[in-house]
Amino acid sequence: MQNNYTLASPQEIDALTQKAMEMRHQDTRQALALSIEASQAALKADYQHGYAQSQYLIGLCYFILAEDVNVREMAFQAYSMFKSLGDLNGQALALNLLGNIYDRQNQYVEAIEHHHRSLQLRQATGNIAGQAGSLNNIGLAYSEMNQIPEALEYLFKSLDLAESIDDNIIRAYALCNIAEIFLQIGELNSALQYNQRGLSLSHQTRDRALESTALTTMGRIYTQLGDHRAAFDFLQKGLELSIQTGNANDKGAALLGLGKSQQEFKDYESARKSFSEALEYMQKTGDRAAQAEILCGLAKNHILQGEHAPAIHLLTEALDTAKEIDAARQISATRRLLSEAYEAQGNHALALEHFRAYHESEHKNFNAETQRRIRALLNQSEVKKARREAEEQRQRNDELSQALEAAQEADKQKEVLLRQLAVQAEMLEQLAHEDGLTGIANRRWLDILFTREFQRAERFQHPLAVAMIDIDDFKSINDTLSHLVGDDVLRTIARLLRDGCRSVDIIGRYGGEEFMLVLVETSVGQARMVCEKLRREVESHPWETIHPTLTKLTVSIGLSDNKKAASPEELVAQADKNLYQAKRRGKNQVFGGD
Ligand code: GH3
Ligand code: MG
Ligand code: MG
Repeated sequence: MQNNYTLASPQEIDALTQKAMEMRHQDTRQALALSIEASQAALKADYQHGYAQSQYLIGLCYFILAEDVNVREMAFQAYSMFKSLGDLNGQALALNLLGNIYDRQNQYVEAIEHHHRSLQLRQATGNIAGQAGSLNNIGLAYSEMNQIPEALEYLFKSLDLAESIDDNIIRAYALCNIAEIFLQIGELNSALQYNQRGLSLSHQTRDRALESTALTTMGRIYTQLGDHRAAFDFLQKGLELSIQTGNANDKGAALLGLGKSQQEFKDYESARKSFSEALEYMQKTGDRAAQAEILCGLAKNHILQGEHAPAIHLLTEALDTAKEIDAARQISATRRLLSEAYEAQGNHALALEHFRAYHESEHKNFNAETQRRIRALLNQSEVKKARREAEEQRQRNDELSQALEAAQEADKQKEVLLRQLAVQAEMLEQLAHEDGLTGIANRRWLDILFTREFQRAERFQHPLAVAMIDIDDFKSINDTLSHLVGDDVLRTIARLLRDGCRSVDIIGRYGGEEFMLVLVETSVGQARMVCEKLRREVESHPWETIHPTLTKLTVSIGLSDNKKAASPEELVAQADKNLYQAKRRGKNQVFGGD
């Protein structure tokens, strides 16, 4: 446009920065070249605002490309210039970039602070899309901190705002980020639903980086669902796009996912290459949490090939990395792998130590309080949505004067509300891992945990015992005393069982008055002793404290272990058959394992 001898006009410089801004996600390198050109022109023409804008853009492009330059300093300078020029939008943009920089360096508190400052400016200027963007970024930072309820709260707020102004890009970002959270907490169906919506919206935008993120997330969801073929295809597409756009973070994430798929295909050499390449990108971006996850992937590659010493070496590094930034999820995952590796090496003491720590941190990461808050939040957001839709319907109704039509609309409203309620109920159900009455694992969660332990026991050739516990003559308690007393009994039994076994054992409510106990690393003979003790404890419990006429209460227990069971279902069936025997032989006894 201009050569070295002529000065560019402010309009020409603005056009350059505008173009760079538009293409920053399509082709970041090209956007960077334009920004540098604009910055030189602005400097020569002494056009301060153009210079501030180009400095901001250069910082942004370097940040996306994860080039080794001090982007924080650049962003801060841009912010100061915007401030002295009184440009509130510019300040908000620069603060947003600073927030993203802090986030990537795993300094989440600082990240949130900067995003909040950006949000305030955007509220002052009435920039709704910007506000939705800030809310989204705050949600992301909370999710990195493993503060799931806060993360969901901000992301839903962002989604709400984006929907109110029909902004597809931010809407898609919010949807994909919500999907990411569901993925993190293992709610794969919801993850799939949200991400699918985000992905199809992303096709309608010109934001290729967004599309590559959505594709990569899709791949990672399919990995968790165990469909590694589909995962591989999505990840490959995500990687291709991220190479086109030049987004280092997306490249790293896609390669990390690809490595996991290749591992599943037992292509360990390709997996190693993918992980190593992913590690290089994440070292460039400085994302410690991602680095820890990749180190775990590399370690697992060794474990799967029976090489435990190098695995432990990598895992120790991963644990240090994760601890440095206090990344709860990565710490937990690393400890689990460490326990596996030590176990395979025969170092049971260290294996147990890490397994315990893993168990504890899992519990901390996803405790009852967190679950309750997530449920409440989802509840709120679904109800809010239903209310809004009902309100829209109502306004439309006002315009329709005919009574008949109004009645029809009201019916539709009801339908909308009912649909919302159904969705909400399903979500609540999915999110709840706990049985509402007794507080122990519900059937769905029990099945998941049990299958996991069964496979684990198979892999390491450990014994695993299952006890099916059924209350004797329970129906008569309901009938003669009351359902409330019945419920009280169920709660008490659950507590006695929970207190009577080790923290690593799994206890869940299998059905109405049936409980299931999964005893890890326990043979049926050892389980028998545990269950005898449990049976005696139930028998000798002072049941009169619940109801004066409740003088006797007993349970029957059927036992089995994995010695002769080829599947989790078979093991449960054997225990169930033995429970039937215990009942037939007169109740109040343990059967099986002798
Ligand atoms: P058995 O010794 O052969 O096991 O006899 P039972 O009476 O315990 O067995 P049955 O299966 O006939 O009765 C189970 C009863 O458990 C029936 C149902 O009313 C009751 N029940 C199931 N879930 C709940 C619950 O959540 N609360 C209460 N209070 N009762 C429940
Ligand atoms: Mg029963
Ligand atoms: Mg019973």
